[in-house]
Amino acid sequence: MRLVLLGAPGSGKGTQAKVLKKEYNIPHISTGDLLRAAVAAKTELGLAAKIVMDKGQLVSDEIVLGMLKDRLAEDDAKNGFILDGFPRNLIQADMLDKLLTEINMPAQHAILIAVDPDEVVGRIAKRAEIEGRADDSESVVRDRIKIYEDQTSPVINHYKDHEILSEVLGTGSIEEVQHRILSVLRF
Ligand code: AMP
Repeated sequence: MRLVLLGAPGSGKGTQAKVLKKEYNIPHISTGDLLRAAVAAKTELGLAAKIVMDKGQLVSDEIVLGMLKDRLAEDDAKNGFILDGFPRNLIQADMLDKLLTEINMPAQHAILIAVDPDEVVGRIAKRAEIEGRADDSESVVRDRIKIYEDQTSPVINHYKDHEILSEVLGTGSIEEVQHRILSVLRF
C-alpha cells in the first residue's frame, strides 16, 4: 500500500496514519516528525529548520525532499508507506511523482481528510495543551492554515488529475474516520 494523506493542520492525518500503519504493516512517514527529530538532535539542518517551523512556514523543498528520499530508502518502506505532511505544495507534488517513479513505487491512493477550518483551530488548541508544540500557538496556527489554503490545497487537484484522489469526512470519532478511510482503501 502506497498512500499519501492530505488534509489541513489538525485534520487528523497523524492520528489516522498511526492506525493505518498497524493495519497494513507499513511505515508512517511524517516529514513534520522527521524535521522535529532533526530539531531535537540539534543537527545543522534541524537548527535551521526550527526557525522556519516555529513561524509556521514551510522548510525548503529540497531539504524536505532530501530527508524523505533517505527515509524511503530504508528497508521498512519496501512494502509501501503512508506519507503525512508531504507534498505541501505543487513543486513538492511534482518532485514526489518523479522520486516515486524513479524508485518504481508510484502512489496508489491520495486521501484527503476533509475538516471545517473552525474545527481545526479548536483541535490544535487541544494538541497544544498536550504536546506543547511551539508551532501550535494560536497565531502560528492561523498562519499554517493560510499556508495550507494557499500552497497545499492545490495539491488536491494534482491528485484528482492523476485519478487517485478520494475524499473522506474528517469529523466524528477516530474510529469513524478510520472506517471511512479503510472503506476507500478496500474498495
Ligand atoms: P506537520 O507536523 O506536518 O504539521 O509539520 C510541522 C512543520 O514542519 C510545518 O509547519 C513546516 O514548517 C514543516 N514541514 C513539514 N512537512 C513539510 C514539507 N513537506 N515541506 C516544508 N515544510 C514542512
